[in-house]
Amino acid sequence: MTLSVTQRIELSPSSSCNTKLADDPWAFDLQPGYGPGSSEADPIPDATTRPGQLPQAYQEMSQQQLHERIRRAKATLAEKLVILGHFYQRDEVVQHADFLGDSYQLAKAALSKPEAEHIVFCGVHFMAETADILSEEHQQVILPNLAAGCSMADMADEDSVEAAWEDICEVYGVDPEHVEPGADGKLPILPVTYMNSSAALKAFCGRHGGIVCTSSNATTVLEWAFERAHRVLFFPDQHLGRNTAKAMGVPLEQMPMWNPRRTLGGNTAEDLQQAKVLLWHGFCSVHKRFNVRQIEKAREEYPGCRVIVHPESPMPVVDAADAAGSTDAIRKYVAASSPGDVIAIGTEINLVNRLTSEYPDRTIFCLDPVICPCSTMYRIHPGYLAWVLDEIVEGRTPNQIIVPEDVAEPARVALDRMLAAAPK
Ligand code: SF4
Repeated sequence: MTLSVTQRIELSPSSSCNTKLADDPWAFDLQPGYGPGSSEADPIPDATTRPGQLPQAYQEMSQQQLHERIRRAKATLAEKLVILGHFYQRDEVVQHADFLGDSYQLAKAALSKPEAEHIVFCGVHFMAETADILSEEHQQVILPNLAAGCSMADMADEDSVEAAWEDICEVYGVDPEHVEPGADGKLPILPVTYMNSSAALKAFCGRHGGIVCTSSNATTVLEWAFERAHRVLFFPDQHLGRNTAKAMGVPLEQMPMWNPRRTLGGNTAEDLQQAKVLLWHGFCSVHKRFNVRQIEKAREEYPGCRVIVHPESPMPVVDAADAAGSTDAIRKYVAASSPGDVIAIGTEINLVNRLTSEYPDRTIFCLDPVICPCSTMYRIHPGYLAWVLDEIVEGRTPNQIIVPEDVAEPARVALDRMLAAAPK
C-alpha cells in the first residue's frame, strides 16, 4: 500500500489545546508522563533508553534529512521491515507507513507480513503490546518513542482492577479467583476490556472468563458477555461502555460508575446488585472535548450538515449526533457521502484533516475548533522513526516492546474470544 499524504498539521500555541504541542516532541517528552509503565507487565528492555533521549544529532536534523534517512533505511531493510501507522498519527510519519488503520487492523496487518522481522508501530504503547501478543516469535515490535502511551489506558492499572474485582466479588459472595456460574448457568459478572488497555488487563480478562472489545465490535462483545453473565465490569472507557450498553437497551440506572479511589467504587452494595454494567471511571482526553454546543453550532452554520462522532465521546454528544462509530466506520461514512455534502466529525484531528484532503469536493471539518491531536501519539516524530530505523539497519533493536509469555498467553485467550464472538 502506498500512501501519498503530504498535508501537515501546523500547530501553534494559540490554535492548539496544549501549548506544548507547538514544540518538538523531545521538549514535550522531558516532562514526566506516559511510557513503558502504561503496562506493568511490560519490562523496559533497555534501561538506558528513556523517553526524551533521542540522540542529539536527530534532534538537529532538518525534516528533509530525516525523511531521506527513513527512506534509505526502508530501502535497505526492504521486506524485513513493516511500518504501521495509526489513523491518528501525524502525516509526516504516516507518509512512511506500509499500512494505515486502527489498532486492531494494524495488528492484523502485521500478521499478513510474516517475512517482516521488524514491526515498527507508529501508534501508542498498548497497540505495540497487542501487535507483540499476536505476532510470531521471530518478529520484534518496536515503538519509536517509548513515551507514546495512552492516557485512557493508564486510567486503569492492574492493581486497581484487581482490587475492584475483589470488592465486587465480595458483594456477590463469590471467590474472585474462581467465579463460578450460578444455578442458571450464568456468571454473576465477567470483565470486558477495551482494546485501549494494557496487556496486563487483557490477561486479567483472559483469566476471569472475560473478553476484549474494540469500538467496532463493542455491541457484539457485550451480547457475548450477557449470554454468559448477569453483569459486566467494563474498563477503561466509561463512554464506550455507556454508549454501547444504552443502545442495547440497558437503563442508565443499571450502569453505575466505578471510581477506583472510592469505597465500592462510590456505590452501595445494593447499587451493585442491581447493576448490569459497571463502568470504570476512564475516558479519552481527546474525545472528552466534544460537546453538544459544538454540534448545535455546526448545524446553525451548515443547515443540513451531518454529524458523526466516535463512541468514546460523552453520551449527550453521541445522542445529539446523526451517527456514531469507530475510526473505520467514520471513514466509511465519509466515503459513502456525496460531493457537496457537509460532514462534521467528532474525532482526532489528524484523521479529520486526512479525510478533508481525501475528499476535497465535500466540506468536512472537526467539531472542536481548537486543534486537539492525541498528544501521546504525537510523540512519534520523524526524528524517532529515523533513529529506530537507523538502529535496526545497524543490527540493534531499540525500544522493543516485549509482553512476557505468562501475560501474553491469557491476553491471547481474551483476544481470541473477541475474534470468535459473532455479531447477532
Ligand atoms: S485518542 Fe485517546 S484513546 Fe486514542 S490513543 Fe489517544 S488518548 Fe488514547
